[in-house]
Amino acid sequence: MLEELEALFEEAKRAIAAAEDLAGLEAVRVRFLGRKGELTGILRRVSQLPPEERPMVGRRANAVKEELERLLAQREEELKAQALAERLKAEAVDVTLPGRAVPLGHYHPLTLVLEEIERIFLGLGFSVVEGPEVELDWYNFEALNIPKDHPARDMQDTFFITDEVLLRTHTSPVQVRVLEKLAPHLPVKVIAPGKVYRRDDDATHSPMFHQVEGLAVDRNIRFSDLKGVLLAFAREMFGPNTRLRFRPSYFPFTEPSAEVDISCVICGGKGCRVCKDTGWLEILGAGMVHPHVLSVSGYDPAECRGFAFGLGIERIAMLKYGINDLRLFFTNDWRFLSQF
Ligand SMILES: [Zn+2]
Repeated sequence: MLEELEALFEEAKRAIAAAEDLAGLEAVRVRFLGRKGELTGILRRVSQLPPEERPMVGRRANAVKEELERLLAQREEELKAQALAERLKAEAVDVTLPGRAVPLGHYHPLTLVLEEIERIFLGLGFSVVEGPEVELDWYNFEALNIPKDHPARDMQDTFFITDEVLLRTHTSPVQVRVLEKLAPHLPVKVIAPGKVYRRDDDATHSPMFHQVEGLAVDRNIRFSDLKGVLLAFAREMFGPNTRLRFRPSYFPFTEPSAEVDISCVICGGKGCRVCKDTGWLEILGAGMVHPHVLSVSGYDPAECRGFAFGLGIERIAMLKYGINDLRLFFTNDWRFLSQF
């Protein structure tokens, strides 16, 4: 039995050393030391030996058991350390690799241009105000000197919601809302940016687009103040050599009225394809606030006067960035938008 025990001891030592992982080692433990294990079997049979042999075999068997338990524990530590080392290696992070770029959003070109416009007019002492996009006929037309039967209504293809409610066709109704609210306070100096709506849709017209309304009212406002403000704006926006040209025009809510051109931003006024060889680009409409607009809003036209202007943000952005199709602003093509 002693020989059997020694053979088993050698076999168990080899098996422990050969175990390649924790599961394999556990199988070895069960094989030799489990309840039905080979060493356990030998220990049970010790009681069947003649009494004089029992103590010696019993001692040796217990010593083998203790030694195997020690070897198993030692191998288990080794295998655990090895598994940890392998995991650390597999999960290692190469800190010298370049980082993955996080895609960042871009400001929309119209937002950039609006922020630039606001910055310039804030610098000229104007405040920024807003008005509703769903507007009453009164503010959009009648208070602006455009009664129900006025032919100027034909110039603005309107989305009507009811007979008296519509989507505003321009930002000019904000003039009336601001004056009503502030009357009779002077001076009034505001710009009002926002969305406007007209039934139009082609390469140069969109059913929704953006305007900025400007309004200044005070006791001694003159046409030259309008020219000075617009020239300061144009030079800040398009460069210090920009020139302005005022052409007589007609708007029901200003008198006199003008279409305002800037010297061509592409050719500087010599004539090119963009300005159609005229050297000028139309950018906005303007004029002196009509006395009717002042009086319906609570101001006395005998005491104060004002100027107003309206410009299209898309128009400015197209000139500033050389964009030739208005629809690019609204189709949300990432290749276009990520250029700004
Ligand atoms: Zn030109």
